[in-house]
Amino acid sequence: MPRIVTSRTKTPPEGFSKIKPTLDEFEAELKDVQTAAESKVAARGSQNLWKVMRVHHERSRYVYTLYYKRKLISRELYHWLLRERYADKLLIAKWRKKGYEKLCCLRCIQTNESNHGTTCICRVPRAQLERDAESRGEEVAFRECVHCGCHGCASTD
Ligand SMILES: [Zn+2]
Ligand SMILES: [Zn+2]
Repeated sequence: MPRIVTSRTKTPPEGFSKIKPTLDEFEAELKDVQTAAESKVAARGSQNLWKVMRVHHERSRYVYTLYYKRKLISRELYHWLLRERYADKLLIAKWRKKGYEKLCCLRCIQTNESNHGTTCICRVPRAQLERDAESRGEEVAFRECVHCGCHGCASTD
């Protein structure tokens, strides 16, 4: 479905048409995974939610890369995209900080919620997980975190 332009402030800045096809693909993918998440196929509930979060993450990453890494879009367009929620402003703010370059989602660094006062296990560098497991004579048990299904997002990984 095309986005309906309801007011003049919604008119996208120059350069938008160039990235629109990719944003449309994200939009379509989001719709797919959201429909799946809402259909509540019981056992797969969290997996579907993770997929929604993954697409949101990838779309934010796309916008972030365009502006900060590849410098392909104007400041005006970048801020417009944030305002129109094509990207998560708070998540991007984290990516710009040292040590958070690969952060998966904001929930995984919230220490007050269900994480027992620590950041999520997905934030622990792989090398450290391996050392810890080895000292216990075990294999690394961590596969994906409960918040967003992240497989590990430490900057050193
Ligand atoms: Zn993570
Ligand atoms: Zn996590």
